[in-house]
Amino acid sequence: MRDCGPCALCCILPELPKWNKPGHTPCEHLSDDRDEKRCNAYATRFPPCRKYSCLWLQGEFEEEDRPDLIGAVCSRLDIHHVREIIILELANDEDMPHEFVSRIVDAGSVIHLHKVDGSTSYLGKQDVLDEFFEDVRIVGGA
Ligand code: SF4
Ligand code: SF4
Repeated sequence: MRDCGPCALCCILPELPKWNKPGHTPCEHLSDDRDEKRCNAYATRFPPCRKYSCLWLQGEFEEEDRPDLIGAVCSRLDIHHVREIIILELANDEDMPHEFVSRIVDAGSVIHLHKVDGSTSYLGKQDVLDEFFEDVRIVGGA
């Protein structure tokens, strides 16, 4: 069973408009003390925080791929129940975790990359991406 340890990227990267939390900004309840549990409002934390655990915390990837160490948080998204893809949110656009991304792409996953500047793109092997877009096109009725 993994532990977030000093990581707190999912308390920094997401935008939670309903709770006035801007994206890429530490949550107002986030403690600076990296040796302690980081949420100062754990009992009353925001509802999305109660449900969320990143893929690394769920046991995917390697131990050394903890989000704060690679500078990116990964979540899974089900597209029309046709294909699961990995949402990869970068903490810093200049610091792409190339080795990690290559490993995930080589394993046959489709990555939807979210950069800090708001731009997004898909990454994957060309044949996997072709199949993914064809599946989505058929299900979407395009
Ligand atoms: S990004 Fe993952 S490992 Fe880091 S604090 Fe959030 S759930 Fe924990
Ligand atoms: S409420 Fe707590 S768990 Fe939720 S984002 Fe803020 S610091 Fe993190």
